[in-house]
Amino acid sequence: MSIENRRSTRRDVLKQTAGLAGIAAVVGIAAAQPAKADGGTMSPASVGYVDKPNGTHQCSNCSLYIPGTPATANGLCKAVAGSISPTAWCQIWSPMS
Ligand code: SF4
Repeated sequence: MSIENRRSTRRDVLKQTAGLAGIAAVVGIAAAQPAKADGGTMSPASVGYVDKPNGTHQCSNCSLYIPGTPATANGLCKAVAGSISPTAWCQIWSPMS
């Protein structure tokens, strides 16, 4: 192998390594994202989620609620994972502003 060929090979290896590092960075960023783009990641149990309102406070009038379609169907929550009933409630309920 000539010196010229060795330089080319080293250059190629460096390019490939940089490419792999870029791919690894993208995969790492994707893995850090929540499984659902709009839904939260907190477990219902960790926030005391119950499938009934707390007085007038319920998911459908919480600022973190993402309504389903139709509005009576379960939706999502920006904080809590999973299917969320519009008439449920949890300890981090937050009034709409
Ligand atoms: S009450 Fe809790 S579960 Fe329901 S939408 Fe608000 S934060 Fe989410």
